[in-house]
Amino acid sequence: AAAAAAMVKETIRVYARVKPLGRRQQAGSYSVDDEEPLPSLEITVPRDLADGFINNKRESYKFKFQKIFGQEAKQDVIFDSIAKPVAECVLAGYNGTIFAYGQTGSGKTFTITGGAERYSDRGIIPRTLSYIFDQLQKDSSKVYTTHVSYLEIYNECGYDLLDPRHEASKMEDLPKVTIMEDSDQNIHLKNLSLQQATNEEEALNLLFLGDTNRMIAETPMNQASSRSHCIFTIHISSKEPGSATIRHSKLHLVDLAGSERVAKTGIGGHLLTEARYINLSLHYLEQVIIALAEKNRSHIPYRNSMMTSVLRDSLGGNCMTTMIATLAMDKRNIDESISTCRFAQRVALIKNEAVLNEEIDPTLMIVQLKKEIQDLKYELALVTGKPRTSELSQEELLQLDELIETFLKDDDPDSSLDVGADMRKIKYCFAHMKQIMNRPMTSGKKLLSQDPSEEKSSNKEAGEELEKLKGLLQQRDNEINILVTMLKKEKKKARDALSQLNATSAGSTVLEQSLSMSLEESQSPSRCFSLKEAKDFSSSVPRLPFLSRETGGKMSLGCQEAFEVFKRDHADSITIEDNKQLLKQR
Ligand code: ADP
Ligand code: MG
Repeated sequence: AAAAAAMVKETIRVYARVKPLGRRQQAGSYSVDDEEPLPSLEITVPRDLADGFINNKRESYKFKFQKIFGQEAKQDVIFDSIAKPVAECVLAGYNGTIFAYGQTGSGKTFTITGGAERYSDRGIIPRTLSYIFDQLQKDSSKVYTTHVSYLEIYNECGYDLLDPRHEASKMEDLPKVTIMEDSDQNIHLKNLSLQQATNEEEALNLLFLGDTNRMIAETPMNQASSRSHCIFTIHISSKEPGSATIRHSKLHLVDLAGSERVAKTGIGGHLLTEARYINLSLHYLEQVIIALAEKNRSHIPYRNSMMTSVLRDSLGGNCMTTMIATLAMDKRNIDESISTCRFAQRVALIKNEAVLNEEIDPTLMIVQLKKEIQDLKYELALVTGKPRTSELSQEELLQLDELIETFLKDDDPDSSLDVGADMRKIKYCFAHMKQIMNRPMTSGKKLLSQDPSEEKSSNKEAGEELEKLKGLLQQRDNEINILVTMLKKEKKKARDALSQLNATSAGSTVLEQSLSMSLEESQSPSRCFSLKEAKDFSSSVPRLPFLSRETGGKMSLGCQEAFEVFKRDHADSITIEDNKQLLKQR
């Protein structure tokens, strides 16, 4: 489950490094030209040699490189310009490969592993280990795990150089490594040990162990140092705390077998182009590189040799790859140097696609998926509406009304009405909007009107409405005035009746008559509201029941209440009550 989060498409970077001349060596003629954008190395074939190639008219050859390092170039400079950028990519999660290619004695091992004499002679492998562990220590944002492996391929056989038993006295004693290909055509190296290194010292000890096994395995018989390929691999995995994603990356540091060739003897003139590799696997490496450089080549013959199988991803695959062409520029090796440069030019055409190697940690993934399932269950329950059968509260409805109103008023075409994953709310919103759409209300029209003429007509309607309401208010004021007048009248009448009662020294018939009369008067609206406006009113405002003619003979609530208040508040109410009792007895 590797996810390609990022991809870098790049051609293989090719550098040249010229080895210092030996004491008794005769210098070949070459020059370095720092042209833009890429520097070039021009090799001139000496007269005496060129004369030997009858059909070869060319005398000088020019090759382009990413950078050309002269005889004086030190190991730290080589590391900084060539290896450090690759190490940085590997730390970021990409695969990387650096391989040295050149004839035996041109400085491949010196460049990749280093010289044993001086500390400053240490090569790319120890410097890269030092740099990587330094960087890992500085980065506390991730958890890193580092392993190393060291493989030697000799004569199509793989050997594990990190066998810790120290029992090997010849190459055959080392554990044999074989290639396995899975159904996805991924290469697996069976029997190659991956040793964990938690710090620089542990990693250097492993490198030393591997180099010791490499030397022990070498006998004058097998010429291992020139005929074998050695691949030192740093495996890094990183994970952010709490994340389920793990990044894996590999850095191959490759010391290839010597690239020397044998000339076809007897056929003059084509020595420089048709010499064959002594090492068969380098011949297959060249076949792979030619195939990769050709457009529309679907089959790349990686499987022809173990070395090309192991470096499959480094060539035309998922890797940031760098090649160092090591050159021994003495007169006798000019032809080999030209071969090496030719090979380098082909390699420079190859495009690789390095992808970020990420995969998911299954246990952490389970935790994350469980949480996601819970969230989804909850969401599903909301959508199907099953556990939410209760009605929306009044408060919720009001909130929704407000939301709808703001939504409708918002001129922004991107505005949205978000009520969450609650089916009841969604349904209510639709119902409410439908209501608004169908309502012939001024406010509703106003919201939906776009036409200015429509706007005007709705303004007119609003004006009419205002006038109506003003009229209604006036009428209510009049009603109240009439009621107050009425009450005053009633009070006065009652007072008059009482004083009359007192004057006629309490005649029961008279009292009863008077009371009933005053009652009747109050019950009759036609008599109460003799004023013209009052009449208009009662007909125009049917909502006032006590003013309606339809109340019939019954005393209205207002009148009755007023009468009760009057009776209770009257100064002589007790006397009247006493008199009433007295009269009843009589
Ligand atoms: P290769 O691995 O390509 O056969 P080596 O790396 O073994 O070649 O180099 C051959 C000899 O030349 C070694 O003794 C090595 O120390 C020396 N040598 C190679 N390159 C350099 C260099 N750039 N500076 C100093 N000495 C070098
Ligand atoms: Mg070597």
